[in-house]
Amino acid sequence: MSIHIEGVNKRFGDFVAVDNVNLDIKTGELTALLGPSGSGKTTLLRIIAGLEHPDSGVIRFNSEDITGQHVSERGVGFVFQHYALFKHMTVFENVAYGLTVKPKKLRPSKAEIAKKVNKLLELVQLDWTADRYPSQLSGGQRQRIALARALAVEPKVLLLDEPFGALDAKVRAELRRWLRRLHDEIHVTSVFVTHDQEEALEVADRIVVMNKGRIEQDGTPEQVYDNPANPFVYEFLGNVN
Ligand code: ADP
Repeated sequence: MSIHIEGVNKRFGDFVAVDNVNLDIKTGELTALLGPSGSGKTTLLRIIAGLEHPDSGVIRFNSEDITGQHVSERGVGFVFQHYALFKHMTVFENVAYGLTVKPKKLRPSKAEIAKKVNKLLELVQLDWTADRYPSQLSGGQRQRIALARALAVEPKVLLLDEPFGALDAKVRAELRRWLRRLHDEIHVTSVFVTHDQEEALEVADRIVVMNKGRIEQDGTPEQVYDNPANPFVYEFLGNVN
């Protein structure tokens, strides 16, 4: 599923959070929205998700205009910074959740759900945790379960908002490599918000640098790091080079 953002604007009162953004995201790409705090990354992600609607502009998935569509119709999966796992449910139940709440007609059988959940737990290499509760897992493991849960409904687009933001540096580094490998396996179109240059560099196929609601530069990690488009991008990436 490709994503096309055309002339999108979003204000909160007088504050312009997203300022005339145009962006095309290719099918199967892992794109990082990178920029300082308050640059509009999360707002743009929420607009793609349908959790927020733009004041003007158009969002298309492939060629279909989905600007007015509700989040539940868009076929997107989410992973947020703070694990939104249900504490009172086991890992298995958490991953199965999106399938069990489907309308009866669309709901897979118990056996199908079990097969799928077990496969996803293998994919995130945590099949041994199925009967545990989230409190019995480490922060990194919980985020991997959150990812398995997001993938359970076979999203057309996977949206991740600072997914490793709450973890310590060592676990973050491990999860970056892990997410990259996972994406190479499943190839779902993914958009990933981060303020961490190294994270974007290591994980993404493509980096979109944002500042004050605008896109400053958009390219492969090599293009952005080797040829910063302007002084803002140069300064922002400064402590990596
Ligand atoms: P980033 O993800 O780059 O840190 P955000 O998209 O979260 O940036 O926020 C951009 C700006 O918009 C911030 O200054 C924030 O305060 C403001 N903002 C975001 N959401 C809302 C909201 N629901 N109401 C008012 N202001 C908001």
